[in-house]
Amino acid sequence: MELDNKTVIYIGFDDTDSLRGGCTTYLALAIIDSISNHCNFLDYPKLIRNNPNIPWKTRGNGSISITVEIDRENIAYIKQIIQKQVEQHYHMDENTNPGLVIIEGEISKEIQEFALRALVKNISILEAKELAERFCLFHFSKGNGRGLIGGLAAIGNLLEPEKEDFTFELLAYRTEEFIGSKRRINEKSVHEMDQQLAPKVFNNIDSETNKVLICPAGKDPVFFGIRGETPQDVLEAFSLIEVEEPIGGYCVFRTNQGTDQHFKYADSKAENYSVFKGEVEVLERPITITGGHVFFKGKICVNGEEVDIAAFEPSKNFKKTIKKLIPQDRIIAYGGVKYKEEFKKHSVHLEKCEIVFLSEYYKEEAPLCPKCSKRMTSDGYLKGYKCRSCGYKDKNMVKTLKILERDIKKKLIIPPEQAQRHLVKPFRRYNLQKKTSYEIIEKWWKRSSQV
Ligand code: ATP
Repeated sequence: MELDNKTVIYIGFDDTDSLRGGCTTYLALAIIDSISNHCNFLDYPKLIRNNPNIPWKTRGNGSISITVEIDRENIAYIKQIIQKQVEQHYHMDENTNPGLVIIEGEISKEIQEFALRALVKNISILEAKELAERFCLFHFSKGNGRGLIGGLAAIGNLLEPEKEDFTFELLAYRTEEFIGSKRRINEKSVHEMDQQLAPKVFNNIDSETNKVLICPAGKDPVFFGIRGETPQDVLEAFSLIEVEEPIGGYCVFRTNQGTDQHFKYADSKAENYSVFKGEVEVLERPITITGGHVFFKGKICVNGEEVDIAAFEPSKNFKKTIKKLIPQDRIIAYGGVKYKEEFKKHSVHLEKCEIVFLSEYYKEEAPLCPKCSKRMTSDGYLKGYKCRSCGYKDKNMVKTLKILERDIKKKLIIPPEQAQRHLVKPFRRYNLQKKTSYEIIEKWWKRSSQV
């Protein structure tokens, strides 16, 4: 898009952190801070969660894009600032492969289509490199360049208000000297904030254990994150949280978290590392294996392929319900696929599940006496039944089948908040009105030693 001497650029990046430190969202705040005097932000930074089933993610497979309008003559300068920030901030280890892409003007259909595939499939680095060559004004990577995948996906996943669901997350950061120590937050204030603002905020508290979920555990600079429906909601929630250490800054991100966007684009093909959505018939009763995980053998209804379906710890009540399924029941399984070499079979790890058909459950029992209505007893192998009460015998009588009531209902079940993946839509978001627009509020980010 060309506006006189102005132009729009999209900056996408990923894979800048490791489990030992760093955070791609923190790099986003550093970039925003460093370019803010030279550009006009056209949107919140987008925090896009991609396919959660790829094995090389650090945590939640998140990537970032920033959309800005700049003076054409500043392109080279801005590019230089951003590249410097990426080089300064990435946290290198053998699993860190940073990628930065900048696109000017239109976002091509190819990039948009790529982004939707990155939500559900395993994408090759080569494909990302080729797209970056074709469509980017600039791209830069280190290591094997895998970060280019997330960088392109964050730009191409437009989260257009009329077409896609989206939410917001305010991430608050720690100051340098506190990183690595226990996070000092007043948990009571988090509970009160949640009670006051629900359902406009979500996934702050685990509903099964009452545990506060907003603080990560690692050495990264994130202090806490609050998820909500609008930028105003997350900012209000932020103002209600009491902390006992300084906050080094915050930033509001627009995101696909809590939207089920990956299930919208998933199919029922069982492919390693892909997202699965499909109807499955239960073939055998679920069993609990070591570690408390629940498994059952199932059949994908559209193609008859046999798969294992798994519900993992710590999805407590979720697993208990899965355990009640019996052969011929049918579910819509939503989850991630892994190929198990030792069994030469795929397994689907459930993220949520809709129970759509419950088969009849019978119990075999001895027949009632046709004369006195008392329960009869077997008269021996192939000798039919006799009545102990009135003495009636019939060698042709057989067991009868009694239909038992099932202790399970047709419904949607979702693991508790603490076991949910970032993309999963929690129950709290189910009956909300669809958003078709959002406002860019004034104070959506701040970086300082004391906010
Ligand atoms: P964090 O949440 O802490 O930012 P992360 O969980 O996002 O970390 P990364 O360290 O960014 O994990 O690693 C994920 C890597 O996987 C990135 O290089 C990203 O580009 C790549 N990736 C993202 N989506 C896909 C996909 N669909 N197929 C293959 N690779 C992908």
